[in-house]
Amino acid sequence: MPDFLTEEQNELRQRAESLAQQISEIELASSDPKQIRIQARDLSKKAGIFHLTQPTEYGGLDGTALELTIAREALANKNVGHLPGIFGPSPGLLAQASEEIQQKFLDPYLAGDLQSGFGFTEPSDAKRHTWAQLEGEELIVNGAKSYVTGGSSADFINTLVEVEDVGPAMILIETSRPGVELQKAFSSVDGSHHASFTFTNVHVPNSHLIGEAGTGMTRALEQVNSVRMAIAANCIGLNRFVCDLVANHLASTDNRSHTNHETRVKFGRMRTQAFAARSSVYRTAHLMEAGENCVNEIMASKILASETITELTDTAIQIVGGEALIESHPLASIFRRVRASRLAEGPTDTLHANISRGYLDLNLGRI
Ligand SMILES: Cc1cc2nc3c(=O)[nH]c(=O)nc-3n(C[C@H](O)[C@H](O)[C@H](O)COP(=O)(O)OP(=O)(O)OC[C@H]3O[C@@H](n4cnc5c(N)ncnc54)[C@H](O)[C@@H]3O)c2cc1C
Repeated sequence: MPDFLTEEQNELRQRAESLAQQISEIELASSDPKQIRIQARDLSKKAGIFHLTQPTEYGGLDGTALELTIAREALANKNVGHLPGIFGPSPGLLAQASEEIQQKFLDPYLAGDLQSGFGFTEPSDAKRHTWAQLEGEELIVNGAKSYVTGGSSADFINTLVEVEDVGPAMILIETSRPGVELQKAFSSVDGSHHASFTFTNVHVPNSHLIGEAGTGMTRALEQVNSVRMAIAANCIGLNRFVCDLVANHLASTDNRSHTNHETRVKFGRMRTQAFAARSSVYRTAHLMEAGENCVNEIMASKILASETITELTDTAIQIVGGEALIESHPLASIFRRVRASRLAEGPTDTLHANISRGYLDLNLGRI
């Protein structure tokens, strides 16, 4: 629960809240995204937040699931959690790569000298999942990935492939390798940038396998799970931001007189939904902290948090009225940003189906 945190956790929350306040002031004062990113990064380093996503052997703080949830929620609660620069690049899958790969790619990646992408989603008309054949010391990769965030500036893509006769594997593929082709660069409504790629007879050394071939799906899902929690934590912070915004709107003298019963009911419903989503995400973070298997709980929390923020934003816009749709209004920007959270890292329906399967077929998952 977000209540009854330890002294250290409360202190972390205060630091994150104070950082969030400073960043929101910078954002108000500047319209230069690069300037905002640099200042946010420097302030975040000073506040001990930047390094939470990085391992201790790289000078990081190796934040736990709960610590990351606390920090992300506090930042989103001031509507700044989405800004780049606040959290340092995290090793993700590369933490499990061979020493050779770590030295060649992880060190420069964590230093910010190399950019990466995650290649999981495939074109809906793909005849076959991206696959690889083992030939001596090499893998020959063919196929396509359709939605690689940051793909056009990525130096390498951690790619899920099906190794023939072995099973799914994660492989690091440099975008400069012959046969790797960037097909299309595009942006989504939340403002993020992506690219689609094809792979035609791409030769990749076996040493680029991240973990053993056959374990790729499990490894990919570990990465997906941590991003799902990041999305969920960000959404519960935004839920509170939106509730506070509506409360302030309703309390202002201009609106108090025409805040009718129906609007009060709507607002009460918003707070109830925000309470449920927040409780769920913190419960899951506590379970992760205790080392429990909580793949299903992470999915449930991501669903609750992302569906709630989408509904709350829509209701808030309806309550505030037309001014909420003016580009400079925070609700207009949140409206665009949060829509992706119900699809990215697994659409809500797919996650519901997985939760069902988890319980019915594997007897896993709590209520
Ligand atoms: C902002 C953003 C960033 C992204 N970044 C990346 C990235 O870096 N790397 C990457 O690989 N991908 C990325 N994606 C892609 C994302 O993971 C996919 O869009 C998502 O997994 C859905 O896949 P899809 O688009 O193929 O839709 P589909 O899987 O085809 O889903 C379409 C619809 O069908 C329904 N559906 C599909 N399967 C089932 C099922 N089994 N049960 C019930 N309903 C089902 C879904 O609920 C949904 O409504 C990103 C997407 C977004 C929006």
